[in-house]
Amino acid sequence: MQKLLRSDSERISELRNLLNKANHAYYILDEPFLEDVVFDRLYRELLELEKKNPSLVTLDSPSQRLGGQPSLSFKSIKHRIPLLSLDNAFNFDELNHWYERVYKLLEKNFKLICELKIDGNALALSYLNGTLQNAATRGNGNEGEEITSNVRTITSIPLSLNLENPPEWLEVRGEAFIPNKTFNKINSERKKANQKLFANPRNACSGTLRQLDPRIVSSRNLDFFAYTIYLPEDWQPKGNDPKKPNNQWEALQWLKKAGFKVNPNAQCVTHIEEVKTFCQYWDVHRQNLPYATDGVVIKTNQFDLQEIAGSTQKAPRWAIALKYPAEESPTELKSLNFQIGRTGVVTPVAEFKPIILAGTLVSRATMHNKNRIGELDLHSGDTIVVRKAGEIIPEVVRVIKELRPKNASKLSLPKTCPECQSELVIETDAAATKCTNNSCPAILRGALRHWVSKGAMDIEGIGNKCIEQLVKQKIISSIAALYELDIPSLINLERMGEKSALKILASIEASKKQPWHRQLYGLGILHIGEANAKAISHIFHSAEELACAIDEKPEKLSEIYGIGREIIDSLTEWFKNTKNQILISHLRKVGITLKNKEAIKDTLNHNIKISKLAGKIIVITGSLPSLNRKEAETIIENVGGKISSSVSSKTNYLLAGEKPGSKLRKAKEIGIKIINERELIQLIEKSKDE
Ligand code: NAD
Repeated sequence: MQKLLRSDSERISELRNLLNKANHAYYILDEPFLEDVVFDRLYRELLELEKKNPSLVTLDSPSQRLGGQPSLSFKSIKHRIPLLSLDNAFNFDELNHWYERVYKLLEKNFKLICELKIDGNALALSYLNGTLQNAATRGNGNEGEEITSNVRTITSIPLSLNLENPPEWLEVRGEAFIPNKTFNKINSERKKANQKLFANPRNACSGTLRQLDPRIVSSRNLDFFAYTIYLPEDWQPKGNDPKKPNNQWEALQWLKKAGFKVNPNAQCVTHIEEVKTFCQYWDVHRQNLPYATDGVVIKTNQFDLQEIAGSTQKAPRWAIALKYPAEESPTELKSLNFQIGRTGVVTPVAEFKPIILAGTLVSRATMHNKNRIGELDLHSGDTIVVRKAGEIIPEVVRVIKELRPKNASKLSLPKTCPECQSELVIETDAAATKCTNNSCPAILRGALRHWVSKGAMDIEGIGNKCIEQLVKQKIISSIAALYELDIPSLINLERMGEKSALKILASIEASKKQPWHRQLYGLGILHIGEANAKAISHIFHSAEELACAIDEKPEKLSEIYGIGREIIDSLTEWFKNTKNQILISHLRKVGITLKNKEAIKDTLNHNIKISKLAGKIIVITGSLPSLNRKEAETIIENVGGKISSSVSSKTNYLLAGEKPGSKLRKAKEIGIKIINERELIQLIEKSKDE
């Protein structure tokens, strides 16, 4: 993919235009076209670019303005005290940085209040002599929309305060919100009426608050949590009035006593680690709340300390909003690569600037459907939105076309294999595009990776790097060739010592013991996963039986639970392919039986009468790969052989397994023929052929 050079100034201008449009859509039209997390990340990118290039900051930049302009449909109202926003932290590192900054400003330890960040709309409520006088939205922070008659319909907002000595003026701030249940009800009614749905409860709340008809507002059950109080300096409580608060914790208690609903989940803590525990708890438990929250607001508790810390133009320095871990984020596409799997299928992989999603760093997303490139209309240098929820693999969900560089070129699947340059073939059902070159190195690498994997032959020490070298240096050309590796062929590979080479060889040898169903799975036949391989191996005890069934009675295969037409076709195609037939015989030659234990014993039993072992004396030492001692003895005796416990000049064969005893040394000394389990089986099978 061509590298696109985009200057900071171009990117700043693109971001500025997009975010200004998004602000208008969000605050004025209540019809956001960006997800909040995507907005937040792009906004953060703009701030960082502007910090790096201060001369590029313009007055119309969203970084210079707060919220949206008040709508002209309402009377605008000037806030006595600016109603600011909050700075965001997107992870604990950023939270720590904030804490350190405040600590530096205050030069001492300080208590913190954690409050849930309610996903609604800030309201400023003015009370004159204890009676609600007017209510305003935040607007641009200095001026909001006057929406008093709508706010009067919210039953959790007291019209008069429960105070014996109400001050002439006081202001309460808090969050109006729509409970989830009501939000769902509103949206289902809008759906029925063919109206545009609200994107989230916050937009529904904001749309409702700015309704021109208070009756509609009343029908929507808005709710309100209070969290800030401004009282005149000289106010004094009287009788049962709560005492004047000196900190945020007392302010919440004050608000409760004065008649407001206060969120019950706030917590006062002394250490930043306790904040993290609080955030982790609510990240999990927030889904049980009947209203939406989008993070936790952390505030310095003491008012006098808040004053020392002060505010920036947009937000207080003494507070921060820790947003819950995002599952979606915008990022820049760096390249689109094409991977060739073990079956030859081409899979596009988007590589992008690393981002943290659901707590993990992600930098690539595989597109399992090759048509996705076209559906997304993916171009070079695009800003893409990537999603990763929990353990689910990351995916590219869309492209932000407004941020597309001018000279971007459209991306598509290549015509030739990026590995071996042979022409790619589109499958008849168009579901996949494949490289069909039997000697494509990428296909071989995939086959090897699969064969050595845990669920298949579980061979340790052969990682991707090792496989890459073995294929690149043409040391092996098939999975069977793994069993012909020796120390000299391994020792020259990068980061390979004699010890690791020996370990690898031991692990390869040990893999010969893996049962037939793992061998079948390891062959990497399309649609033959672990479960299917097991099911097939119960009915067909060897590759031979399976190949016969495919040839002669494929209907027997379809009797197996879970095996349908597609799988039978795939098996047929695989077993009929000459290259695979050669592979099977190669595998047998190197000691992969491709049959289960029962089948091994059956083969042996069938050949008793014509055995080459009849009358021969055999001694066994060490442990055998697939037969235990008793089984080996029975098989030998069944074909007419005699078992002896000690080596002498009369012994014909020493059958030696792993960890042989002194018998091996003795047999070598007196020149007795030493065989392993595979050679024993071959002796019996040869007898059959003759
Ligand atoms: P904010 O929502 O990130 O945080 C500040 C607000 O949190 C306060 O104004 C207050 O209303 C609220 N809040 C909730 N609980 C609180 C509590 N306990 N204490 C104090 N405050 C509390 O900032 P914002 O300026 O209101 O809005 C900016 C956010 O709006 C962005 O971060 C973005 O997520 C969203 N937005 C989205 C788009 C879009 O296109 N999707 C556009 C513009 C803004």
